[in-house]
Amino acid sequence: MLLVTEMTARRAFVPSPNIAQLKESATIAVSTRAKALRAAGRQVIDLGAGEPDFDTPEYIRRAAQRAIDAGATRYTATEGILPLREAITSLVNADYRGDDPITPGEVVVSNGSKQSLFNACFLLFGPGDEVLIPTPSWTSYYEMVGLARAEPVPVHGDPANGLKVDAEMLAAAATPATKGIMLNSPCNPTGAMYDRAELEAILSLADERGWWVISDEIYRRITYGSVSASVMELVGARDRLILVDGVAKAYAMTGWRIGWTVAPRQVARAMGALQSHTTSNAAAVSQHAALAAITNREAAEPAIAHMVGEFHRRRDAALAVLAEEPRIGVVPPDGAFYLFLDVSAMKGDAREGAGTVFAQHLLERHDVAVVPGAAFYTPNWVRLSYAAPLEQVVTGMRRVVAAFREMAS
Ligand code: PLP
Repeated sequence: MLLVTEMTARRAFVPSPNIAQLKESATIAVSTRAKALRAAGRQVIDLGAGEPDFDTPEYIRRAAQRAIDAGATRYTATEGILPLREAITSLVNADYRGDDPITPGEVVVSNGSKQSLFNACFLLFGPGDEVLIPTPSWTSYYEMVGLARAEPVPVHGDPANGLKVDAEMLAAAATPATKGIMLNSPCNPTGAMYDRAELEAILSLADERGWWVISDEIYRRITYGSVSASVMELVGARDRLILVDGVAKAYAMTGWRIGWTVAPRQVARAMGALQSHTTSNAAAVSQHAALAAITNREAAEPAIAHMVGEFHRRRDAALAVLAEEPRIGVVPPDGAFYLFLDVSAMKGDAREGAGTVFAQHLLERHDVAVVPGAAFYTPNWVRLSYAAPLEQVVTGMRRVVAAFREMAS
């Protein structure tokens, strides 16, 4: 007879090598604690969220209601309904400058751009491959590359240039095992935007070395000065290029879960096959909503302009408060809705990173939730989101300054 302890040991969960590198999100501790504080009756200001605090515009919601009534309730083609893929094709071809225009067969619609990014990493990378990740960057890139059993290689950006990387830094981090690079402009968590010359230099290095480029352009429509360039405007040949975009951020549609890739035909076909065995199609009604979102430009442009205008006001208000405390460093944000703050000037536990210590203090003593920079491989920083009402952003920033002064003095 087996002893109970032996039985327990035999039944213990032994993770497969598929998830050997998978880490729990560094944001979980803060968000769990913020929830607990709220449940205890504290008024926590949440500057941690990565989604617009606006409702999906009415023209999109109405289109979705009409689609449900018209029967959009069944499976669709795995890669997405043709009208949506055609609409995405037109959108992207409006940017593309090469002589090989995109066709709907190269577009795959997924459950959010997160799935599109995962699909791309899973198809293109594997054991022994290294993938360059300009750092800081969105936390999921590292995990997705790891889930493909490839090696994520953080390439730390230049603090004097918005924490961005350049072609030289990438070349220095590359090895013969380098297989690809993840680009994200405007960037989560910094809001920094790569200009055309910077992008061109990176794209030409990637082309020369034969790397895959995965360009995540989910924040492209949310900018505050110049327009953000798409890689499609800068390339001719796109045989090693995957463009990822979606409706979540620009159209305030995070919960609808629609994103897409534009990829060479063979890759798109493989992606469809992968998706056919994992999630099948993205929700039918969401696809119709996304179709309305991107095709009705007359309604879309004012809705985007309104939302971006609000973000702009909040960004400026937040920066004005921050200017009162020059010891907090900040990446000048060109787009997205984040502020990335360097809090290394405060005293902190070096092991945990100043950002983690600061985020805990800010939450416990000042009721403001932010994301520690450790989530983005930059432990001395914190990320704030200004996708929250203006008064909350301003109050939250005042508390950030107060908390910093307590810890720095
Ligand atoms: N890419 C970046 C850089 C993001 O910040 C996010 C969401 O926060 C996503 C992709 C995922 O967006 P989606 O809602 O389309 O899956």
